[in-house]
Amino acid sequence: MLTLEYSAMELTARLGACDLCPHACGVNRLMGQVGRCGIGARARVASACDHHGEEPALSGTRGAGTLFTAGCNLRCLYCQNAQISQGDLAAYPEYDTDALADAYFALQARGVHNLAWVSPTHVIAQLVAALVPARADGLALPVVYNSNGYDRVDVLRLLEGVVDIYLPDLKYADDATAEALSGAPGYTDTALAAIREMYRQVGDLELDGDGLARRGVIVRHLVLPGDLSGTRTALRRLAEEVSPTITVSLMAQYYPAHRAAAHPLLARPLTAAEYDTALDAFADAGLENGWAQEPKASETYRPDFEAGHPFEG
Ligand code: SF4
Repeated sequence: MLTLEYSAMELTARLGACDLCPHACGVNRLMGQVGRCGIGARARVASACDHHGEEPALSGTRGAGTLFTAGCNLRCLYCQNAQISQGDLAAYPEYDTDALADAYFALQARGVHNLAWVSPTHVIAQLVAALVPARADGLALPVVYNSNGYDRVDVLRLLEGVVDIYLPDLKYADDATAEALSGAPGYTDTALAAIREMYRQVGDLELDGDGLARRGVIVRHLVLPGDLSGTRTALRRLAEEVSPTITVSLMAQYYPAHRAAAHPLLARPLTAAEYDTALDAFADAGLENGWAQEPKASETYRPDFEAGHPFEG
């Protein structure tokens, strides 16, 4: 069994020739160089807040304790969080280890149900390093790893025993689409391998007596207009190559954000018929567990990270 300290040390060492994600930029982030994600030695934090719009098992009654990092290893042209993932990253403060640990405790003090790292892949070394003093000082929240799925298996192995709940995306079923829309070569096999490793570590979703997630994997699949998400193939592969009992959150909240308005297929919201087709694909794949979204979800998910709280206007 790995110790938290060992994982933090190994992950931090990889910043010296960064290969924390599949891009493997090789830059020395410890010396302040930046690769495709745009973040150097220190993580930048865009928001740390209680979030009530996640899946019910994560939001519960008191909210998920979401810590939104700035920067990202993908470049989705329809990114709903583009302000913080691809915008002016210098606008968001750098957090050292102590500041991150303080942020974890501030979330715990708000009474949230978990510590949910949003877009953790490119700053996983810094996030885990801060967990070392935080756990020693009594941080009790389960950790949620909410990534875009473009994760490396060898990095994920260092998170065994560190992460309680994995919340990855499975965005595409076609690599050319993934490269064109998100700048993610080899996305499909990469994400499925990552999800298999996550599932090996924590298995199916386990809920406590209050219906809150305590352990397990939840896969998010955002249904895109024009079936750019390859929903039928993505869900079939997930059931066949990982497990038919894995929990899936089938998301209807797409709206044309960021640069999507200029794209011939992405310039409009999802239709109800498209989402119905995705629900059929879920059933046809033999998947058993998950959540559907109201087709009007795109009208309520409009984060603004320049406001005090990104989900409260
Ligand atoms: S985490 Fe950032 S610097 Fe490291 S390999 Fe990925 S994109 Fe490159």
